[in-house]
Parts: sequence; C-alpha cells; structure tokens
Amino acid sequence: MFFHTHVYYAKKVDKNLDALKVIGSIIPDLAGTSIITWDHLHKKKDILNFSSYVKKSYPDFASLLKGINYHNTVDYLSHLRYKNSTPGYAYASSTVELITLTQKAYRVTPERARISAHNNIECGVDYHILNDHPELSKLIKDSIKKIDMEGLAKLMAQYYKRSEREVLDSLNIFFSVATDYDFRTIDGLVELLVALNKMYLKTDSDKKLTRKVLELSFRITEDTYREFIETSIAVRNTEIKDC
Ligand SMILES: [Zn+2]
Repeated sequence: MFFHTHVYYAKKVDKNLDALKVIGSIIPDLAGTSIITWDHLHKKKDILNFSSYVKKSYPDFASLLKGINYHNTVDYLSHLRYKNSTPGYAYASSTVELITLTQKAYRVTPERARISAHNNIECGVDYHILNDHPELSKLIKDSIKKIDMEGLAKLMAQYYKRSEREVLDSLNIFFSVATDYDFRTIDGLVELLVALNKMYLKTDSDKKLTRKVLELSFRITEDTYREFIETSIAVRNTEIKDC
C-alpha cells in the first residue's frame, strides 16, 4: 500500500502513535530507492533479524519496529490474502481493463503491467483515504522532522552493509517522494507516477493514459476501499509474515 494508507492504519490501531512508528509504517518501501531490496523489510526472515538487531543495538529505535509490523499487516492483506481468499485486495481488484490500460500507459511488459496495476489500485485507495483524512500529510511531514534521521541512516547502514552517506541520500529521496507531491489530486498523482516510473522502471509514461489509469483505479476502489481498511484494522493480527 501507499504512504497515507499505512499511516492511517497505524493511527487507527495505535493509541500511542509516535513519529518513529509513523516512519516505520512506511520505511519498508524504501526498497523503491534500491538501497535495500523488496525481500528485506517485506519478508519475515529479514524483519525478524532486523528487529533483533535494533532491539539489541539501537533500543531507542524500538518504536520503528512496531511501525514495520503495521506495514507488514496491511501489505499482506493487500498482496497475498484478503477475506480468506488469495490473492490480496490490490491484486484481486486489478481488472483486465486496468492491466491493459496500465501496460499502454507505462509502456511495460504484460508481467510488469500486472504488478503496476496492483500499485495503481493501492494508489486509488490512498487517494480516497487521504481525501477523507487530509491531516495525514501533515502527520508524515511532522514525523520526518521529529525523528533522528542520521541515527536511522547509521542503524540501517550498519545492518545492510551500505555507507551511511548512501543510506541518508536514499532516505532523503524516499521522504521527498512521500511529501513533495499532492497525493490528494489527480494532477499530483499523475506527476508522481510518471516520476516513479521514470525512476524505477526507466520508462517514459504516457501522461494522458496515466490519468485514465488513475481515473479507473479511483472508480474501481471507491466502493471497496473503506471495507479494505476497516477489515485490516479489525484483523489485528500483527504476526510478521512474508508480504
Ligand atoms: Zn510495502
């Protein structure tokens, strides 16, 4: 799922939400910058190892782990299993029409279009949730300001065996993606998706078709996003899983 959906979930399930929990609830997607991989903070094995390391060496960052746990719960429901059936919500909601349109808009292979279509469903959910709760943008911005970013870079650099400078640069890129775009408007999201596709897929997206992709994603998710997020909140099963 996207940033605001994760943060909304964290806010709803945690009465003692703090800045590190907010950051933890979005940090696994730092994989988008390639400083860590999608197997790192999205897979059970790495999350458990990382958690032991943080508890032992950086106990002040323990709240971050709680946030990562929240991220894991929502992604599992979105990717793998939702309401007792597979796949998860975002894949199950990706229609043939959406996948075909995504392929044309992003100029990617059919397999990549299938993955990107699930991202577009998640983007639709995020759009609806953020428009219902616009205060979530400020919560992310304030949390970024509050945490010890250099400490976080140091902790991650040691664990993932990268330089602190590299990790700090990636964190800065990641958090600017989370805050520099207007996630509440279709114009802002077109800009975001075109930039993300350029950065990660190395493709030049068609802007007009990207807008159509978003319009379709908004329509597909508008009747189900509330149920998705409310079901996720109600599950309360926060055992770490592969997602
Ligand atoms: Zn994720």
